[in-house]
Amino acid sequence: MLTIPKPLFEKMTRHLEAGYPYEACGILVGETDHPTDPRTRLVHDVVLVANAWEAVNERESQHNRYLISPDEYVRADRAASKRGWDIVGVFHSHPDHPSQPSEMDRSQAWPGISYVIVSVCDGKATNARSWLLRHERDAFEEEEIRLVD
Ligand SMILES: [Zn+2]
Repeated sequence: MLTIPKPLFEKMTRHLEAGYPYEACGILVGETDHPTDPRTRLVHDVVLVANAWEAVNERESQHNRYLISPDEYVRADRAASKRGWDIVGVFHSHPDHPSQPSEMDRSQAWPGISYVIVSVCDGKATNARSWLLRHERDAFEEEEIRLVD
């Protein structure tokens, strides 16, 4: 389960809506909030990141691809560590598409990180789902998103 305070969830969705009609993305920082289950995590901060994908052709543009630059990732990781936290997830939008991971999403994902995908239709965030890659790396499993005050 991924627990996100409502103000952070709103910060995330506003960023994704602002990026429409392109994919937008960012990083979720936090910690495990359960003594024995590391898959139960609480988000403490949302790091907004620019989509660094550079179009290679018309079929793969920022309309359907995103990239978080390694520099941004390392910077977020260092900042999180200083506060005693970790990167617990990555989020991105699917403009005018369902919040289902694509084959590209699967091939670029790592186990142990939540992948939150938000469907943004006509510039409005409509649906958010979170996915964890299986350790075999062959498929995602959905995890529950819990919003808290
Ligand atoms: Zn995607």
